[in-house]
Amino acid sequence: MKVNFLDLHAQYLSIKEEIDDAIQQVLARSAFAAGPFVKSFEEHFAAAHQAKCCVGVNSGTAALHIVMMALEIGPGDEVLVPANTFFATPEAVSLNGARPVFVDQEAEYYNIDPEKIEQAITPRTRAIIAVNLYGQPAQLERIKAIADKHHLVLIEDCAQSHLATLNGKSTGTFGLCGCFSFYPGKNLGAYGEGGAVITDDEALYKKIMMLRDHGSAQKYHHDLIGHNYRLEGMQGAILDVKLKYLPAWTEKRRHNAALYRKYLRDIPQLVLPAEMPGAKHVYHIFCVRVPRRDEVIKYLGENQIYTNIHYPIPCHLQKAYAGLGYKNGDMPVAEGYADQLLSLPMSEQLKEEEIQYVAEKITAFYQS
Ligand SMILES: *Cc1c(COP(=O)(O)O)cnc(C)c1O
Repeated sequence: MKVNFLDLHAQYLSIKEEIDDAIQQVLARSAFAAGPFVKSFEEHFAAAHQAKCCVGVNSGTAALHIVMMALEIGPGDEVLVPANTFFATPEAVSLNGARPVFVDQEAEYYNIDPEKIEQAITPRTRAIIAVNLYGQPAQLERIKAIADKHHLVLIEDCAQSHLATLNGKSTGTFGLCGCFSFYPGKNLGAYGEGGAVITDDEALYKKIMMLRDHGSAQKYHHDLIGHNYRLEGMQGAILDVKLKYLPAWTEKRRHNAALYRKYLRDIPQLVLPAEMPGAKHVYHIFCVRVPRRDEVIKYLGENQIYTNIHYPIPCHLQKAYAGLGYKNGDMPVAEGYADQLLSLPMSEQLKEEEIQYVAEKITAFYQS
């Protein structure tokens, strides 16, 4: 049996007619850059998260960067970010000339540790970016209270947490705004690149709408220095179709996570992901911790089971950030986990027999 990390082709086949029809409609109307299909998707995506406004942009990285631009967080400013995240989170801070300040993660839930946030705050701190890593909300209520106490902006990186909730409230709505990615492999993926910012703040919404289109609200009148960060019409139309299926796909991911728990529970070497009380985890990634990680990856690969690592090198130790002066030992939890993390195949297309097969092979590896 072959088990892919995810199967985008199977997903496409399950909704092919609707997708093909949506693409034809974009072609028929030549609505390629932003336009009506993007607008329709933005309204639906905001509603899906109980947010007032949504701006579609052309990647998750652009979503984070455009928020930095809108808040004018630049040279001399600091932004707190978790050490274990995809590189785009701190990169967006750096792109605007500000400095990312890394914070270690919680041992149990993998998200930014609220206990370690306050000691990282300085007079230059402007914002906290909380990443809802792997699909599980960070401790957003606690982090919001810390942000308020220190007059900082809370921004959520929701690139992995579409439709996740904490105590019934959607990720992306706890702080000033939430930044999403629609990279093809995300829980809601475009057929190309895409991203979005959701917010209840209308002034921020208007500014981001201008910034994504060269700082312009009226054609050829430029009030701000912006960027070309428009979401493509084709992606808007595709995402609008897929969004209808996202609630069911999310439940399927959660069901698959429950199956993994069932079939993996008798392997003492394995640490399964813990769900935080009150959190609805949407399992973008099913991340376990294992000893002899690289050997198990090789063994699974030989058995046609394809896995990943999120992430092998914490951001503060990346070469690009050598200039910031971090060293090994600064983020003990993130560093200690980096060579134990293993992401198992996960998607709504994954079948029970595939999960059983993965569990069998992991069991065989640790018994030998
Ligand atoms: C995917 C991802 C991003 C970047 O999104 P792109 O659409 O690839 O630019 C940012 N942050 C996190 C946590 C991600 O997983």
